[in-house]
Amino acid sequence: TQADHHCDVLVLGAGPGGYTAAFRAADLGKQVILIERYEQIGGVCLNVGCIPSKALLHVSSILNETREMADHGVTFAEPTIDLDKLRGFKNGVISKLTGGLKQLAKQRKVTILQGVGQFSGPNLLTVTAADGSQTTVGFTNAVIAAGSQPVKLPFIPHDDPRVMDSTDALDLADIPARMLVIGGGIIGLEMAQVYASLGTKITIVELADTIIPGADKDMTRPLLKAIRKRYENIYLGSKVTAVTATPDGLDVNFEGKDAPATDRFDKILVAVGRAPNGKKLNLEAAGVNVDDRGFIAVDQRMQTNVPHIHAIGDIVGQPMLAHKAVHEGKVAAEVICGHHAAFTPITIPSVAYTDPEIAWAGQTEEQLKAAGVDYEKGAFPWAASGRSLSLGRDEGITKALFDKETHRLLGVGIVGPNAGELIAEAVLAMEMGADMTDIGLTIHPHPTLSETLGFAAEMAEGTITDLM
Ligand code: FAD
Repeated sequence: TQADHHCDVLVLGAGPGGYTAAFRAADLGKQVILIERYEQIGGVCLNVGCIPSKALLHVSSILNETREMADHGVTFAEPTIDLDKLRGFKNGVISKLTGGLKQLAKQRKVTILQGVGQFSGPNLLTVTAADGSQTTVGFTNAVIAAGSQPVKLPFIPHDDPRVMDSTDALDLADIPARMLVIGGGIIGLEMAQVYASLGTKITIVELADTIIPGADKDMTRPLLKAIRKRYENIYLGSKVTAVTATPDGLDVNFEGKDAPATDRFDKILVAVGRAPNGKKLNLEAAGVNVDDRGFIAVDQRMQTNVPHIHAIGDIVGQPMLAHKAVHEGKVAAEVICGHHAAFTPITIPSVAYTDPEIAWAGQTEEQLKAAGVDYEKGAFPWAASGRSLSLGRDEGITKALFDKETHRLLGVGIVGPNAGELIAEAVLAMEMGADMTDIGLTIHPHPTLSETLGFAAEMAEGTITDLM
């Protein structure tokens, strides 16, 4: 076919997976075209995900801390919040990063075409620009990195501007008086925290009987305790059955053990998960299989059923996390360039950047129990950590799980301030095949929160000498 553009490697979608694959392929000498519907590259993570949420959570944790300082003898006046300036700070962080990415693309001579891409054949993609004009791109190899989008619920008036998804919530249009967050997962709880610290009264409703159902309950309990104090209501094992938009508010019907029959809110955030974009790419034209939900199946080389077409990131499955997409993107590019690469991590860590943070890697205790694995556990309470107490915090726990026979590290859960930073050591330990003696003998600096992993290993070993 005669296409308008030609390249060695076409990358569809410029999120963390897509730009990583594009840059790696270009570094390895390929001619790369990157297709992105939005003007800014960076995908969900940079524009409406990881980064803006963390910028706002930083401000939120300072607000929380200044309020707690009164207990330590320092009382601040109530802060005044300039929403435009706060939004400006967040948008400034995004534009620094997306601008940097554009520079990196330029340096590598990666061509960026703006528009919506759909396959027209096994080696051809059609790109439709916002004005409706179309161009075609012929390619030798392709990497599909088109990501995911928020799930919508059929009984909710999503067209009403008072009903938000995470993208709308990150826009910070206003600070509602009362907000309902549907979904007690990581995204819902992070956004709830931002709005709560700005003054919104929060209600959370979650179908499961626990928040963040993927993590162990002993890890989520300290967060649940903290937000039970900070938020107006938390309804677990409960669900929303209907939402009616009225001029005075959003009238919500609930069902479940904790929830009332009805209540009225100023705004609703729907955070019930994300769905892959696999059904919107006309993949049939390329012969690429996509399942009912929109996921594309791949092997360890990130290859789809069509060997010259790869797929990476949220569109290939859980966990839908940026660091997974990045590593998969590298593998896809390297495989295309003839390297013997494969995506075979021992573990992909998860983090909730709430206050306290929750992080886990490897297997959870619930997973080990379900699989009937014999394990030994060391759980170090931060109430015995000098550093944690110096921060005015005592609710944290570092839990390490070891194979009973080999003593190898199988999983770690951490809850407490900075858990997201601390989990990286556990991930490295698991990748290196460390056992409890390795971790216990590793000298951690004192006094730090990082010591708690060493203490947890010593507790499992029974060699702990002092708790400080
Ligand atoms: P995406 O980032 O979704 O990028 C896909 C890109 O493809 C988009 O730019 C889209 O516009 C483009 N695209 C799609 N279809 C087409 C098409 N047909 N034509 C052209 N372009 C197209 N993950 C973490 O690891 N840590 C976090 O702290 C974190 N926080 C998050 C907070 C929120 C509020 C949300 C929503 C997500 C968060 N995530 C976080 C998840 C993370 O954002 C995703 O896992 C990650 O962005 C996935 O990367 P990706 O490359 O697969 O796709």
